[in-house]
Amino acid sequence: MINECPNCKLPKVLCHCANIEKAQEGAKSIFPFHVSTYAHNWGILIPCKSGVYWEQQTGGVMCHHEEWEGIFIPLSNPEDVVDGKRINYLHLLEDANYTGDYKKAKEIWKKIKEVMYFDFEILDYSYEEGYMWVKFTKFEGHGEWAKKFIGKEVILIYPNCD
Ligand SMILES: [Zn+2]
Repeated sequence: MINECPNCKLPKVLCHCANIEKAQEGAKSIFPFHVSTYAHNWGILIPCKSGVYWEQQTGGVMCHHEEWEGIFIPLSNPEDVVDGKRINYLHLLEDANYTGDYKKAKEIWKKIKEVMYFDFEILDYSYEEGYMWVKFTKFEGHGEWAKKFIGKEVILIYPNCD
């Protein structure tokens, strides 16, 4: 077909290849790019050479900042409905960590794993608050992509309490 894009095979009126190429060319000058996870500090950071450096506040009230190069995959919030009320376990986790109630924080992590349909081993026990190196042992209910994380060592980003 004459009016077909050779790259995406769509009819030229529907193809965005030229725009994408132009945008990619224009974006080259922003790398290396430093950005924070604060707008959505719940997700998986895949360490790799991406040219994008992600900063997360860690260390609880110590406000220590760490930065890693990689790709950040945002996750849906771990929510539940209890007695007709929607609750976000990340908010409860922040409160528990802020008050130093680590027994409660441990229970909340158990709930987070339940509602997220995932489980993981913590790899680095010297972890600070706000992130941890994990190896996923289960990752269901999120589609095919999530299964790729099983057995992989990645950084789990979660809200720092302060
Ligand atoms: Zn195209």
